[in-house]
Amino acid sequence: MSGSANADKLAAGLVEVIGDATRVLTAPAVVDRLSHDFYWYSPVLRPILTNKTGDVVVQPVNANEVLAVLTYARRHEVAVTTRGAGTGNYGQCVPLEGGIVLDLSLMDRLEEITEDGVAVCMPGLRLGLLETEARKVGWELRCYPSTLVKASVGGFLGGGSGGIGSVAHGGLRDFDTVRAFEVATMEEEPRLVLHEGNAVHEILHAWGTNGVLTRIWLSLTPAVEWTQVTIAFDTFDEAFGFAESVAVDAAWTKRLVTVFEWPIPSFFSPVKNVVREGKALALIMIATDELGELLLVAEASGGEVTFAAAYDGPRTQPLLSDYTWNHTTLWAMKADPAYTYLQCGFSPVDCREQFAKLRAKFGEEILFHIEFMKNGEGIVIPGAIPVVRFVSEERLNEMIDTCRSIGVFVANPHVNYLEDAGRYRADNAQLRAKEKYDPMGLLNPGKMMSFRKAAVAK
Ligand SMILES: Cc1cc2nc3c(=O)[nH]c(=O)nc-3n(C[C@H](O)[C@H](O)[C@H](O)COP(=O)(O)OP(=O)(O)OC[C@H]3O[C@@H](n4cnc5c(N)ncnc54)[C@H](O)[C@@H]3O)c2cc1C
Repeated sequence: MSGSANADKLAAGLVEVIGDATRVLTAPAVVDRLSHDFYWYSPVLRPILTNKTGDVVVQPVNANEVLAVLTYARRHEVAVTTRGAGTGNYGQCVPLEGGIVLDLSLMDRLEEITEDGVAVCMPGLRLGLLETEARKVGWELRCYPSTLVKASVGGFLGGGSGGIGSVAHGGLRDFDTVRAFEVATMEEEPRLVLHEGNAVHEILHAWGTNGVLTRIWLSLTPAVEWTQVTIAFDTFDEAFGFAESVAVDAAWTKRLVTVFEWPIPSFFSPVKNVVREGKALALIMIATDELGELLLVAEASGGEVTFAAAYDGPRTQPLLSDYTWNHTTLWAMKADPAYTYLQCGFSPVDCREQFAKLRAKFGEEILFHIEFMKNGEGIVIPGAIPVVRFVSEERLNEMIDTCRSIGVFVANPHVNYLEDAGRYRADNAQLRAKEKYDPMGLLNPGKMMSFRKAAVAK
């Protein structure tokens, strides 16, 4: 049977399963679009993943439909790749072996925000919508990616790690931010299983390889009135020193502390007015009632405050988080497609030495973009998403090896499997869950390299 005949048969089966042909999509252009994410960020992944696609997209509206699709897929041994909003940037939701794309964008209901600040929601809910609704009742997200407006809660838990807010609250895996979720399994008889407390780490950031999140309990934090501030400094050292002092001092109430060395700020064309030619830029979200004090300290440290305005939710314009975290790379690539990026964690003690070593070896092939974040032990560290000039895969690997050899942590965003991309658990908890919940290896196959289907299949 030809590929398209296979897809037709699969689509007919899925229409029978969910009883609604309008939610089973087969048009090749649509299937291709919904089979891809921001994988093209990586010049290494781009040629590998461009032609990978699922056969059919199905859009369930509730957990029972998810179970019905998984039951069908298991019976017919068809691969299933789960998709939230498709903003991941290592091809996490690009199907490597065809099959079904399980698009959860219609499962987007916010069920409740409890009195003690826990959001209960379906996985397709957009983070921006959750932030808006939460702020109406005095809460807000603890941390969110710079793709806030578009990204889904399920996709953030499945493929993200942290972002704006992480300087105060750590990443998704820290401080019980993810309270619990319900997971649909790909066992012989698929079922829903509740994971609470420590058990969330078996599924969190596993790229949909070991279960499908169908309902989520996410801890929020009391809402704060925030002001977005940018401060220009003559040198990166000055900007870094100032930002570090704000980031590590618990007395400041902050949501974002970012530093860019020149010429990164020159890439931010829509907000040229906050940039000063040749200067480094610090970008901070600070509690509005601490703004006056921050401005005094910034100026006393040699900074020029170039912008200060209230944050009023995800629709704020300009929304300065649009220039931070992995959005910075997007602006760099717009300015020059030869740029790409790495994801690093510098030492809070030796970072200046580490910066100097990388500069000495790689010159301006690496440009420093720092995002301060709290780790699980409560220590604020200089995380970084440096902008890197792409020369070759070998050169990129040399840079990664050098980073690791001088104690800089690297989550490699140029691989398409979990183990080297940064959040794979050394205790193999995600692998054990896959062996239990997906013994046939049908969930997002090829993304968890350590899984061996032959060892556990029926
Ligand atoms: C410009 C840009 C900036 C970014 N900034 C950040 C950042 O600051 N911080 C950060 O952490 N990430 C960042 N990312 C990556 C990405 O945007 C986030 O991780 C986002 O939260 C992913 O959500 P999504 O709904 O788009 O997920 P998708 O891309 O759709 O999915 C991500 C992964 O999760 C899996 N998945 C999706 N839904 C489920 C589910 N219900 N159950 C199980 N698995 C599921 C998918 O199979 C896939 O493997 C950025 C990406 C871009 C392009």
